[in-house]
Amino acid sequence: GLALLETQHVDIVFCDLSMPEMDGLAFLRHLGEAGHQASVVVVSSHDDALISSVEKMAHAYGVALLRALKKPLTREKIAEVIEQHEKRLAKGARRAAEMPSFDLADMLRGMQAGEFTAFYQPQIDFRTGALRGAEALARWRHPQHGIVAPGAFIAALEKAGHIDDLTFLMLAQSALTCRRMAESGLRLDFSVNLSLTSLGLPHLAEQMADTVRAAGVEPAQMVLEVTESAAMTDLGHSLENLARLRLLGFRLSVDDYGTGFSNIQQISRIAFQELKIDQSFVKGALRDEGQRIIVRSSIDMAHQLGMSCVAEGVETADHWQNMHGMGCDVAQGYYIAKPMDAEALAGFCARHAAGWTPAEAV
Ligand code: C2E
Ligand code: CA
Ligand code: CA
Repeated sequence: GLALLETQHVDIVFCDLSMPEMDGLAFLRHLGEAGHQASVVVVSSHDDALISSVEKMAHAYGVALLRALKKPLTREKIAEVIEQHEKRLAKGARRAAEMPSFDLADMLRGMQAGEFTAFYQPQIDFRTGALRGAEALARWRHPQHGIVAPGAFIAALEKAGHIDDLTFLMLAQSALTCRRMAESGLRLDFSVNLSLTSLGLPHLAEQMADTVRAAGVEPAQMVLEVTESAAMTDLGHSLENLARLRLLGFRLSVDDYGTGFSNIQQISRIAFQELKIDQSFVKGALRDEGQRIIVRSSIDMAHQLGMSCVAEGVETADHWQNMHGMGCDVAQGYYIAKPMDAEALAGFCARHAAGWTPAEAV
């Protein structure tokens, strides 16, 4: 199989977990190590839990896994897979076109010139439909490239040691938007993403508090989202900063929960107030019993620790119903609205002053 892949152009590889000459796991590893670009479909008669760990393994090896399928294979399943493959190709092409690489000088110039702005994505209370808050997501209005998404600059800014500049920009803008909304009678909490690399900075907490207060907002109205990750290298400083942020009144949220190296101790050690269930689980919980169990117990754990739960990536009515049914508190996702600029957010809030319900989904 491997030799054939080296000499022939192959679009999609179907890989059985138990093959005669090499086991499927080793085959996936070789594919990943060779950096092969083919779409891979794992086929197996094993149970969902095993298939799902094979999926994770394949991702970790960098294999372009399209899907894991349970036997028997049918025409319909194969047709779906081909369609998915075509979507993947189209998406890759779009991404390549969308993602020019930027150098540091251009990014610094852009920040100086005020080209970076916060877009906001609303968060809705599952039970009451009330507007609870909005997450600030960085966008770059680039003079040549138009609106650039954070995938193209966050990692580069972190690497160059300039992510804090962006964090403070986002914080200041969000606080300002928060105050303006308050002036028009709407109390909304704002969430800002905080890079792990920032947590090593001395005086981070005080400077953040100063920044929001300068806009006339109390830290208690701001939520700081931190991704759980093994990358919390400077543990001492990080924990001190997180504790200090809490003392100053900020609320802390665990972002992308479930994808990192689950630091349950970390969560209970530093009082976090919110758990954001990663979008992969919001999707996965619909089709995979194992993921459903993980989501349900994460929500229970959060509630028992006195935290509230946000589902991110709520894209469909099914996602909404499923997460609502499992007791999740707050929804965020395209089903409700895509991230939008401050003006559009004000419009959204005005239109949904009485709350947002699934009937209003477009
Ligand atoms: P994140 O914090 O997990 O933010 C959620 C991402 O999911 C956003 O992507 C959002 O646009 C997208 N999203 C929201 N609803 C849906 C949905 O229903 N379906 C799907 N497929 N996606 C949805 P975005 O804006 O491209 O941001 C990507 C990541 O960049 C963020 O992930 C966050 O980690 C990072 N980021 C964004 N802004 C900042 C920032 O100011 N500072 C730092 N450090 N990181 C940021
Ligand atoms: Ca986030
Ligand atoms: Ca997230």
